[in-house]
Amino acid sequence: MAKKSDEEYKAELSEMQYWVAREGGTERPFTGIYNAHDKEGVYKCVCCHAELFASGNKFESGCGWPSFADHMDNENLRFLEDASRGMVRTEVRCAGCDAHLGHVFDDGPTETGQRYCINSAALSFADDSDT
Ligand SMILES: [Zn+2]
Repeated sequence: MAKKSDEEYKAELSEMQYWVAREGGTERPFTGIYNAHDKEGVYKCVCCHAELFASGNKFESGCGWPSFADHMDNENLRFLEDASRGMVRTEVRCAGCDAHLGHVFDDGPTETGQRYCINSAALSFADDSDT
């Protein structure tokens, strides 16, 4: 997959999407369009449209960001240790384009034990009925 330039991303993304996905920003809780979004479909990387999360794994965590118990069964995520802000967290990025997506925590309420806390601004959504 060809890497895009910063200028190309700036042209395609909103300011918020660019800041989150390309500059590692975090949207304010309860402001993202997919926080209280419960349609069935697939959440994709906003930058390269790699399929990342299925709606069936989304749950209401109350944290203010879209939360998933697991990612899709593919190699589209990569994980980095993030020691910023005085704590060690695991950052989640898109493996294809290196977009910052959010973080994953091991305090999830379901059997996976995981809670992917992902910025709406880093995602696009494909409704099942679109396909
Ligand atoms: Zn991507």
